[in-house]
Amino acid sequence: MFCDASGVGTLGLKRKERFSTHSETAMKLDIELVAEDMRREKPADVLQIPFGTVFSDHMLSATYSDGEWKDARIHPFRDLSLSPAALCLHYGQGIFEGMKAYRRGERVLLFRPERNFERLIQSADRMVMPRIDPIFGIESLKELLRIERDWIPQVPGSSLYVRPTMIATEPKLGVKPASSYLYFVVLAPVGPYFKGGFSPVDIYVSTDHVRAVRGGVGAAKTMGNYAASLYAGTKAQEVGTSQVLWLDAHERKWLEEMGTSNVFVVTEEEVVTPPLSDTILHGITRDSVITLARDYGMQVSERPISIDEVIEGIDTGAIREMFGCGTAAVIAPIGSLWFKGTRYEIAGRATGQLTQRLFNDLTRIQTGEIDDPYGWVVDVN
Ligand SMILES: *Cc1c(COP(=O)(O)O)cnc(C)c1O
Repeated sequence: MFCDASGVGTLGLKRKERFSTHSETAMKLDIELVAEDMRREKPADVLQIPFGTVFSDHMLSATYSDGEWKDARIHPFRDLSLSPAALCLHYGQGIFEGMKAYRRGERVLLFRPERNFERLIQSADRMVMPRIDPIFGIESLKELLRIERDWIPQVPGSSLYVRPTMIATEPKLGVKPASSYLYFVVLAPVGPYFKGGFSPVDIYVSTDHVRAVRGGVGAAKTMGNYAASLYAGTKAQEVGTSQVLWLDAHERKWLEEMGTSNVFVVTEEEVVTPPLSDTILHGITRDSVITLARDYGMQVSERPISIDEVIEGIDTGAIREMFGCGTAAVIAPIGSLWFKGTRYEIAGRATGQLTQRLFNDLTRIQTGEIDDPYGWVVDVN
């Protein structure tokens, strides 16, 4: 299963088959089920659980050593056993993905999962880690979801959050790429991001701290990026805001991302989002928003946009809407920006029309409520 991303999503593999694009690298998936009477109680009210704190009965894992992946298994959710010298614990060689599974009647749906597994490969390459074959990634995830189908909540706006992760496990205190790794996937039932309904968030524009530098690892979903972002998050909270708007590291001028989401600015003429680079995470929701907005007939520009242009546009009213987007919230309307001691309210803190329309259409496509003309939704069957 050490291969490239070509042909992703084209193999219609059946249950308990071998997962591979090349027969010589075929990998078997062993399944060890929790006894029915040992299964955990599903949460009575998914709206009450804090994000990512409750996990399903089973997880998936595979190990890498001697240059190959092996021991792929679905097994009971359990703690890991790791050497205290495991390289991931010291030097952060670890990557992950985030996606959601939705249930609609008998259907179980994933949204563009091949993109997540392509990005996992890109993150792995950047962090000098072995690749996961995306066919294996998707097909083994589907198998896990078939087993955990009843863990997918059906309350509107809720889903089963999927967290594929890879960590360096070799016990060694020298800084180097590890020779052994663990890949695992855990599942967490989650409620809608906005519990009390869709409502605008207040944002802190960070001028003192940055998320990513050119030539760095900002485009990889690697663990250290999130640890590095926490401090600015405490600054955001000190001024009563909930998330950080990141500016570029070199000029502290150009918009990059918002928290762990991509960011969009809407004017009368165009929808603007910063262009992809190695300082920006290549969001799948971002790509989907661009496609939808273009289909609405709007001018979408992937161009650099400065904080000065944004502040001026908010002042003059030229900027009508701003929002962040990512798997967790899907779309998060931005109500205000706190920038150098001043709060700038965007269009009276109301949720904009385009923001609302994108949220409605994306979530309806993701949950199978409306037809998907883009071929984004994948049925787990
Ligand atoms: C995951 C992530 C996003 C959003 O990506 P999606 O594929 O839309 O979920 C944006 N920015 C950062 C930093 C992220 O980690």
